[in-house]
Parts: sequence; C-alpha cells; structure tokens
Amino acid sequence: MNVSVALFTSDLRLHDNPVLRAAVRDADRVVPLFVQDDGIHAAGFDAPNRRAFLADCLADLDTGLRERGGRLIVRGGDVVAEAYAVVVETGARSLHIAGGVSRYATRREERLRAALADTGCALHVHDAVITALAPGQVVPAGRDHFAVFTPYLRRWEAAGVRGTLGAPRAVRLPDGVGSAPLPSRTDVSGVSPGLAAGGESVARRRVSAWLAGPMSGYEDGHDDLAGDATSRLSPHLHFGCVSAAELVHRARRRGGPGADAFVRQLAWRDFHHQVLAARPDAAHADYRARGDHWRSEGDEIDAWRAGRTGFPLVDAAMRQLAHEGWMHNRGRLLAASFLTKTLYTDWRVGARHFLELLVDGDLANNQLNWQWAAGTGTDTRPNRVLNPVAQGRRFDRHGDYVRRWVPELAEVRGAVVHEPWELPARDRARLDYPDPIVDLSEGRARFEHARDLG
Ligand code: FAD
Repeated sequence: MNVSVALFTSDLRLHDNPVLRAAVRDADRVVPLFVQDDGIHAAGFDAPNRRAFLADCLADLDTGLRERGGRLIVRGGDVVAEAYAVVVETGARSLHIAGGVSRYATRREERLRAALADTGCALHVHDAVITALAPGQVVPAGRDHFAVFTPYLRRWEAAGVRGTLGAPRAVRLPDGVGSAPLPSRTDVSGVSPGLAAGGESVARRRVSAWLAGPMSGYEDGHDDLAGDATSRLSPHLHFGCVSAAELVHRARRRGGPGADAFVRQLAWRDFHHQVLAARPDAAHADYRARGDHWRSEGDEIDAWRAGRTGFPLVDAAMRQLAHEGWMHNRGRLLAASFLTKTLYTDWRVGARHFLELLVDGDLANNQLNWQWAAGTGTDTRPNRVLNPVAQGRRFDRHGDYVRRWVPELAEVRGAVVHEPWELPARDRARLDYPDPIVDLSEGRARFEHARDLG
C-alpha cells in the first residue's frame, strides 16, 4: 500500500487544489491532514474571527472528503512534529504542501524538509496554490520582484495562469489514523456578531452568484461604500476555500469591464504576495523607510479603534470592522490614511488592530496595504492624504454607509452627515457623537512637515 499526505494550510478546498490532486495521484491511500498549529497561536495570529471561520472551513472540507470516502485528519501541536508523526505512523512516501510567502511559511518548509530527510518521505512544495501566479513567476530584468504595480500587472496579464483541476473523485485513507475532533465555531469566544460563514461550499456558491450578476457592475460600483458591491471573497481567498487561479479563469470567461476590473484586484493580491516572498521583513519593517518619527497618542489610537474619532466615515468603517470582521476596501484605505497620515501614527499599530479583527487578515495583503497607505510601501504617491469629508462626499454620497454604521447619526439627513460640526448648534447638541479629535489641516501640515515636504 502506497501512502501520501496532503498537508492543508491556506488551501482548504477540494476543487483546483494541486496539493490534494498530487497526493491522490501519488498513492492509493491519502491522509488529508490539517494541524492546528501551536506556532500560529504563539505568533498571536489565530484571532477569534479567523479561528471561527477556520472551524467552518474544516467542517466543510471534512464533509467533502467524507463524500469521497475519506475524512479530514485534524491534529494539534507543532505542525512539523505532527506531520512527521503522521508520516511515521502511516509509512507515507510523499508529503504535499502549498508554497507560502511569509517567513513563517518558508521556515515551516525548511523544518519539514529537515524532519522528513531520513524518513524516506519526499516533500513536494506546490506553487500557485495560494495565488494565481507563483511569486517569482514574473520578475523584472535583474530583480527578484516587482516594486511597482503597473508594470507587474502588464507582465501578470501576459503570463499564463495555470489550468484548473477538478476535485478528486475519491480519497481513501489508510486504516487506523487517529484524528482530534474538529474545532467548532461555537467554541470560539470574542467573535464579531456579523461574521460571515466559511467553507468551500459557501465560497463556491458566492463565486457563482458573483460571476453571474454583480461582477458586471464592479468597475463602476466597487468604491460605493453603501452599495457594498464588491465580491466579499477575501476571506474565502485567504483560507483558500476558492482558488485564485480558478477565479481568474472563470471571471475572464464571463468577460466585460467588470471582469477586467475584478481580475485586476486579484493581480493586486498576487503583487503583494510576490513582494512579501522577496522581502519577508516587510511584514514588520518599512519597505521604503521615510525617516518617520511616528507619534503615539494613546487617546487618539483608542478613539480610532473604537470608531469615535468624530469623523463619521472613519468611524463607520471602524465599526463595520468590529461588527463584521471585514471592512470595505475604501473604508480600509481611509481608516489607514487617517491613522498614519492625519494622526501620524505608526502603520504597525493599525495593522495589528486590523489583524486582530479581519477575517481575511493576512500578512501579505494587510501589512503591504498598510504600508501602501502609510507611504512606506509601494505607492508611487507616498504622501497623498485622504480627507474623510471629501471621501465621504465622493464614495458615500447620500451618507447611507455612515447612517448604517453610526447610529448616533442615523437621523441626520443628507451629506452633512459627513461633517456634523456644520449642523446648527441646537441639532448638534442633541447628538451623542464626539467632536473631531484632530483638525484636518493641522494633521496634514504636521505630516507634511514630518516628511519634509515644506
Ligand atoms: P473585491 O473588491 O471583490 O476584490 C477581489 C479580491 O481581490 C479580494 O477578495 C482580494 O483578494 C483581492 N484584492 C482586492 N483589493 C486588494 C488589495 N488592495 N490588495 C490585495 N488584494 C486585493 N485584503 C486581504 O485579503 N487581507 C487583508 O488583510 C487586507 N488588509 C488590508 C488593509 C488595508 C489598510 C487596505 C487598504 C487593504 C487591505 N486589503 C486586505 C485589501 C482589500 O481591502 C480587501 O482585499 C478587499 O476589501 C476585500 O473585499 P472583497 O473580497 O469584496 O474585494
């Protein structure tokens, strides 16, 4: 009997999963393994929203495997020690895993390689499982990664995304492999009340519904905060419940300007992954240092986190984050610009808070988007400052997004909801809503002075 192990990480799916397909092809018995990794817990990366969503993903994966004659084997502990134990128990001759981009993922790969060295089990690391194109698949002449998105996009669009794979028909386990119980969402405390459900089945239904209709309006509607007209696929992509490569193919088959705009966003995702793969320290250190001496005002940071800055659009976005564990991209851009530029606070403070809550929170997209917003990353206009009132007038024209998330302002009609300080004093006094914590012009001047912009 020939045994292989498919070690799932950020690829919790049966469809278009090169890891699982290769494990099934390699052997007549397969151990589909997921390790609840102590290392991720120790790194503080298993925030409640992601743990709850993960539980959904694992339950769904287990169901899909059972329909194919197998089941998911769950273990807890050090991922390398647990994978090694399964290899020894089953005599597996190959172990398959998706290539990752973080320092943690590459270190995990190195440790696995060392641990398996004298077991007779070969380690296979598969590319383009987590992203559509593998990091390093396209590179500029003489460099190991693209530092600017537009030239990356040109090469990305010209490169071929690998073909997609169907789900395996059957997955047969070797006898007697023990599993810990599946984790359950209900065991996790501190979960956002409006957190979405996870799992490949939910993800595939969402993809089909998205491609069949709303995607066609994406180009025009993606920045409309109240319209909520983006795909909301980010958590499913983060956990790999849906494959980025498959999404690119299916969106392109549909075609149209909405599909083009949507696929471009998937290229942004790959872009950040290839930056982090080449510069793993960018998860913590400035990608392009600007000599910042950040301020650190506890009261301001607390107000920002709580959605009580007195700037309705910033507050609405922060409250959406707390409620759903997800925030609209336009809200993320504004909340990040406000913290890093208007309040001139270290992007790491904001990135950490986002990672505590975001169900799609991942190092490549979160840290590098934060750096982009702070002007220490890949933005070619690093000193732009977003004005929350102007952003409100433009992307929440009627104020519906603010009224949805900031109930204190629910009765304020029209666009003045973005600047409640303009209301007549009598109306204003009736609102239980804070005064702005900063003067926008002073904030901008402080930032420009700090960046030496005159
Ligand atoms: P759609 O607009 O439908 O886009 C489709 C997909 O493209 C997304 O699901 C996502 O995978 C990808 N995508 C879209 N925009 C970006 C982008 N700017 N960078 C990288 N990928 C993108 N995205 C995350 O997945 N995880 C994060 O931790 C994360 N943190 C962010 C922090 C900040 C400060 C900012 C400004 C952006 C962050 N983003 C992050 C990117 C983006 O906001 C989200 O991917 C997007 O809002 C998810 O919603 P959606 O699935 O409806 O996106």
